[in-house]
Amino acid sequence: MKLNFIAGEWLAGGGTGDNINPSDTRDVIGSYTRATSAQAEMAIAAAHAAAPAWAAFPVQQRAEALEAVGIEILARRAELGDLLAREEGKTLAEAIGEVVRAGHIFKFFAGEVLRPGGELLSSVRPGMTVELTREPVGVVSIITPWNFPIAIPAWTIAPALAYGNTVVFKPADMVPGSAWALAEILSRAGLPAGAFNLVMGRARDIGDTLLNDARVAAVTFTGSDATGRKVAQACVGRKGPMAKFQLEMGGKNPLVVLDDADLDVAVNAAINGAFYGTGQRCTASSRLVVTQGIHDRFVSAMVDRLRGLVVGNARHSATHIGPVVDASQLAQDLTYIAIGKNEGACLAYGGEAFEVNAQGEPGHYLQPTLFTETNNAMRLNREEIFGPVASVIQVTDAEEALAVANDTEFGLSAGVCTTSLRHAAHFKRQLQAGMVMVNAPTAGVDPHVPFGGRKGSSHGSREQGRYAAEFYTTVKTAYVQP
Ligand code: ADP
Repeated sequence: MKLNFIAGEWLAGGGTGDNINPSDTRDVIGSYTRATSAQAEMAIAAAHAAAPAWAAFPVQQRAEALEAVGIEILARRAELGDLLAREEGKTLAEAIGEVVRAGHIFKFFAGEVLRPGGELLSSVRPGMTVELTREPVGVVSIITPWNFPIAIPAWTIAPALAYGNTVVFKPADMVPGSAWALAEILSRAGLPAGAFNLVMGRARDIGDTLLNDARVAAVTFTGSDATGRKVAQACVGRKGPMAKFQLEMGGKNPLVVLDDADLDVAVNAAINGAFYGTGQRCTASSRLVVTQGIHDRFVSAMVDRLRGLVVGNARHSATHIGPVVDASQLAQDLTYIAIGKNEGACLAYGGEAFEVNAQGEPGHYLQPTLFTETNNAMRLNREEIFGPVASVIQVTDAEEALAVANDTEFGLSAGVCTTSLRHAAHFKRQLQAGMVMVNAPTAGVDPHVPFGGRKGSSHGSREQGRYAAEFYTTVKTAYVQP
């Protein structure tokens, strides 16, 4: 059984959960302990106690610790990628790519340990100077979802530690394997005991503790909109000082395809953005907004490409689309497919779940599903599905495309496929999203630049790259009269 890491010790919790392979549900990857609420509190106490030591830790050593974590992750990419594909269900190539990204993130933030400077300004008062410096926030609760089991932990834990904070990390209960492997690497990195803690477990057992304890200074959360709102309320409503919080939630990302788009570029972007990662990405292109001059060619090329996609075991090399992560997510996907049909959308491809793949392995398999003849008022196009389901919305022209793209409560990522510089510039400026992609899928982002959205998708400052400093540090303004 895999244990939690609290105050520098490996500890069994109050129960265990099995990590099941969604590509073959007979395959139990391992048994993982579940922290109790008292243990979550122990982890917070340990992180609180370790905060001064970690904040004062020599920066060269801090950088080397994070560098060593990055190097080990990269060296073990094949093994960790296989574990990730096995527990989450994205294809092996995608899983290895995610692991590589996690390694690069640790290496990037190893560099950031030494890089940040402050600012020195004149004061309005003669002889005085003003110094701006960044200090750690303190204890950070890190709550992550199941769809990126190592990348999201990496892009939250690495900056938290790099900027001198201590961490209590709760991964999603469904995919503890990659999180545990990352914690095991961190446990050997030479951090003071308590600087990094792993509490695997269920939200209902430990969620409140991670949010409500006044020693937790900041909470970073990625997950559903409903839970994000609860996290925000807890951070504001708790006794004592409010916690700083950062939320990454849903998306209903549009990919606009204009008449002048290169058809191959558009189809590649749409297939990748909508269906890779089994559509289980908050940046997935779930709304394909297509102008009428290219619509029919686009739909027929999409259906051709979909016919060639192999749905199967995530670890088989022939597979393009792995299984859905679990039975309840599959049920949600199927519910939305039924809703789409009832709303009058035309099922152009897919829609069928199957319980056994071509090799006879039982899993949560779903064909990639494309709806056409949809409109933006349908629930299909308003609510996040989080599966391999996308819909085409036909529009008259570029202006209508822009209006439809922006007509959503979300604003994480948005794309446009066009060969016109004028359209590209206009959409880049006018799309209401945190990230805009021109001739590229809405999903798939670089590790060293800001990630985050607008409107209902995100709250708080950006993640990743140097912009992460905004969340993981607090600014001090010092007035100095010599
Ligand atoms: P999903 O499981 O669809 O990714 P959730 O928002 O349910 O989205 O879960 C995201 C993460 O938040 C998971 O680690 C989950 O355990 C955790 N979580 C869920 N509910 C709470 C809560 N009330 N308090 C704290 N964490 C929670």
